Amino acid sequence: MRDQFKVRIKRQDRPDSGSYWQSFELEREAGMNMTTCLQRIAARPQTTDQEDTTPVAYEVACLEEVCGSCTMLVNGRVRQACSALVDDLLDDMNDTITLEPMSKFPVIRDLFVDRQKMFDNLKTIKGWIPVDGYHATGPGARQSPKQQEAAYPLSECMTCGCCVEACPQFGPHSDFIGPAAISQVVYFNSNPVGSFNAAERLKAIMGPGGITDCGNAQNCVEVCPKDIPLTNSIAKASRAATMQALRSLFNK
Ligand code: SF4
Ligand code: SF4
Repeated sequence: MRDQFKVRIKRQDRPDSGSYWQSFELEREAGMNMTTCLQRIAARPQTTDQEDTTPVAYEVACLEEVCGSCTMLVNGRVRQACSALVDDLLDDMNDTITLEPMSKFPVIRDLFVDRQKMFDNLKTIKGWIPVDGYHATGPGARQSPKQQEAAYPLSECMTCGCCVEACPQFGPHSDFIGPAAISQVVYFNSNPVGSFNAAERLKAIMGPGGITDCGNAQNCVEVCPKDIPLTNSIAKASRAATMQALRSLFNK
């Protein structure tokens, strides 16, 4: 096992500036993940050319693959820095790990990107259950264990951005809302109370940038760290949208 290794990072000082690469040499530690690496670099920000530099900017919160904020490209694959272990990324042939910001979002600085588009898309599909007050209204409608089992995996979405990073249809070149938001339509529409607003959510994905923009490449489901059955959600949303279109036609 090598005691030292390099981390090569694609950096960018400002949203409107160009990018450049810097390499850092680190001592290997047991159980080290990419967040630890970035912390070690911040403690001593000096490149392999012995140049003093600034700590690398990145977003982080939970440190346990629940918040999704530390999503970046690690050796070219989109994933969370907190669950990317150095031991799994290095081998006898390779002593360098590469970090890049996600490419589908504007870079704020270094590895820190602006995922606002994803949150805006959740607003578009009304990814919540509206309440008309916070007074006690008694227990909600019951869900069978089967319904709960189907809904729970969809509730695990952490808006990390992995699926949209991998999706060829999503990005600055398109208005496509992306697989995460479509899956949240299915999730909230499957809730007994959320189903009251099902038509609104479906209509939100029936226009331009909606479900028909999915090219079915299925990259999204391959990279989701929570194993959310995204293509299954897309198929369900597509069927529900077709039914909604027919209902709208006959209710004119
Ligand atoms: S199936 Fe393909 S086009 Fe559709 S959302 Fe997933 S990655 Fe994007
Ligand atoms: S669906 Fe999966 S990959 Fe996409 S944002 Fe949610 S957790 Fe991340």
